[in-house]
Amino acid sequence: MFVLKIGGSAGINYDLIADDIAALTKTETRLVVIHGGSALTNEVSTALGHPPQFVTSVSGFTSRRTDRRTLEIFEMVYCGQMNKGLVEKLQQRGVNALGLSGLDGRLWEGKRKEAIKVIEHGRRRVLRDDYTGAVERVNVALLALLLEAGYLPVICPPAISEQGEAINVDGDRAAAATAIALAADSLIILSNVPGLLENFPDEASLIRHIPAQKLETFMVVAQQRMKKKVLGAQEALAGGVKRVVFADGRVEQPVRRALAGEGTVIG
Ligand code: ADP
Repeated sequence: MFVLKIGGSAGINYDLIADDIAALTKTETRLVVIHGGSALTNEVSTALGHPPQFVTSVSGFTSRRTDRRTLEIFEMVYCGQMNKGLVEKLQQRGVNALGLSGLDGRLWEGKRKEAIKVIEHGRRRVLRDDYTGAVERVNVALLALLLEAGYLPVICPPAISEQGEAINVDGDRAAAATAIALAADSLIILSNVPGLLENFPDEASLIRHIPAQKLETFMVVAQQRMKKKVLGAQEALAGGVKRVVFADGRVEQPVRRALAGEGTVIG
């Protein structure tokens, strides 16, 4: 059993990923798919006259500023084109994919952050109208039901708050929570880079292996969005997932290559 997170950045080849999932599901392999959609969300937000904004927390992590309008656009893209596009590609290849967001059936539940402390132009500011949070509970019973019935769950943010509001959650960390909840052996994270690069963007500087206990020291090489992936990997390993692989989502057989250890293997 493994969890596959497919990124949402430009360059990721969804056809090759779908081909590979189709080949893998012909064997006994069991998996759950989680996907992103950040690049398209940026594009659509801009086209709709509500350009994306990003905030940096006091601890140095960057995330999407998610006011109500952003949340609506986010849902259009993630639960709409990205989720249905991926389900379509899988269905075309004979995989009985079933798309759902973290809201559906309270699949991913967490707390909405009442206030987020951000740094803006070097100054601290508190945001109270942000719809963000983190996954604290995964509806494993729902996933088990789908898997038992032969469906491949294809999941995306948003998650749901205890009060039933949609909340934007980080996809990598939500994938980690899902891998932990399913007691998955591996968490595979595909994006538009070959893995964690020592000197980003030099792809020749790929770090091939990081022992779990050394991961913290690699937080410095991870810039911007990569930091969340490292954090997600830390959480997954702490929660009992045996290994996390950051791998390339632009190549042939991306999933099988990652499972074979191509990319950055952590653990
Ligand atoms: P996705 O949308 O696929 O989940 P992100 O775009 O959020 O992925 O994160 C991956 C990005 O992180 C890469 O495209 C790259 O621009 C950036 N990045 C920053 N530092 C590094 C690094 N050290 N190694 C690899 N990628 C890095």
